[in-house]
Amino acid sequence: MKPYTVTRMNDNTWQIAEVYHLPAALPMYLVVGTEKAALIDTGIGMENLRETVEEITDLPVSVYNTHAHLDHAAGNHRFDRAYMHFSEEQAARNADGFNTDARREFVELKCMYDPEREAIREFSRDHMMEYDPEYDIFYIEDGDEIDLGGIVLKAVSCPGHTLGSMVYVDEKNRNAFCGDSLNPRSSIGMFPGSPTVSTYVNSLERLLELTPDIERYYVGHRLYSFSREDVKDVLACAREITEGAEGEPYPMVVSRRGPLWGRIHWYNGKRITFQLDNVH
Ligand SMILES: [Zn+2]
Repeated sequence: MKPYTVTRMNDNTWQIAEVYHLPAALPMYLVVGTEKAALIDTGIGMENLRETVEEITDLPVSVYNTHAHLDHAAGNHRFDRAYMHFSEEQAARNADGFNTDARREFVELKCMYDPEREAIREFSRDHMMEYDPEYDIFYIEDGDEIDLGGIVLKAVSCPGHTLGSMVYVDEKNRNAFCGDSLNPRSSIGMFPGSPTVSTYVNSLERLLELTPDIERYYVGHRLYSFSREDVKDVLACAREITEGAEGEPYPMVVSRRGPLWGRIHWYNGKRITFQLDNVH
């Protein structure tokens, strides 16, 4: 079996999705110019990602991470260059956090309640790559432009889900690739020291301001995009939290060691999970 689905979105762009937790699949995006290509995120680190990319393009491919969580950056070491915001590097270098068992467990938990996903669980047990944290990491900063030849990606900082979260904007095709900065259920301020919900409010206001012509904001963990109105809903949800909405108890992260409890607040179908300690 193939752990990926590949969908061509336009002349320049492919969506490569890890299907282990459909419908909440993890999408990566390959944007191909005339000179080179950018792979936005590398997923949980299953085998054959590089081969899948090379079936699409033979141009040089660099990785650009939206952030360095284990389900977004575990295939980085298979590529020659990986770029991320400098404050994500510590997470990317954490071999324990990215270890093969932790990533297998992540897939197991995502597939746990669905017998139809047994084949994917088995595949991930056998085909999870060993993570090598010693690869070269290059930094990308807010405002940087990545010229791929005929198409440019612009980096926009969006602290909230993590401190170094980055959105990559393709003005030509009116797409923005947001990773976990935007989600039907955004997790903000998960741990002590994480960015606050107030910071996230500022980040989304700025993102909307800087991307007036963008039509599709591709989210993390789903294969679809948000409209600008959807992004405004997420912003409204975050604002209500900063204005005192306390939400309801919710397990923000589930692991075999038990859930990490936080709160969840809803606004017009969008949800944000957060910690009361990390609102302001
Ligand atoms: Zn994440």
